[in-house]
Amino acid sequence: MSMGKSGSGSTREVRFACDAMLGRLTRWLRLLGYDTFYSSAIKDEELLEVCLQKDLILLTRDVEFFKQAVSYGIRAKLLQENSFENQFADVVESFGLDLRITPDGSRCPTCNGLICSVDKEDIKNKVPVNTVNSYDSFFICTNCGQVYWMGRMWRSMIRICETVKEKLKKN
Ligand SMILES: [Zn+2]
Repeated sequence: MSMGKSGSGSTREVRFACDAMLGRLTRWLRLLGYDTFYSSAIKDEELLEVCLQKDLILLTRDVEFFKQAVSYGIRAKLLQENSFENQFADVVESFGLDLRITPDGSRCPTCNGLICSVDKEDIKNKVPVNTVNSYDSFFICTNCGQVYWMGRMWRSMIRICETVKEKLKKN
């Protein structure tokens, strides 16, 4: 099943909401550029309301919550895998997600805001000197102002995306 996959890969059409247990998955979906609602404090009923209002696909590990969402007419997916990698692979496969990583198309893992390139000069006071000296490309969240670079997080993400691609090929 593949939906919402765009030809260019630049438009991320599917939008998600994750339950409070899926913080890590949320951060990854955002890094991949997928609009993902997350709140660790929201009540179940409120989260369902957000899904309905914004037409979001609910990702949850909770069977009862999944059934409730479906009964409300919300598109939902129950994640039954225990490991993060398998959960991620399951979502990628179910929704035909694009695993190409382009920082300019990413969203902020913290706040879901859009990330854009920024001149080194403009952020050199906001990140450690070592980092400024070690990297050339920097990105900033247009919403919360957090600065990002292609460091460890991005490298581990690229590695896991490659693992998931291999896994899906074998299925
Ligand atoms: Zn942000």
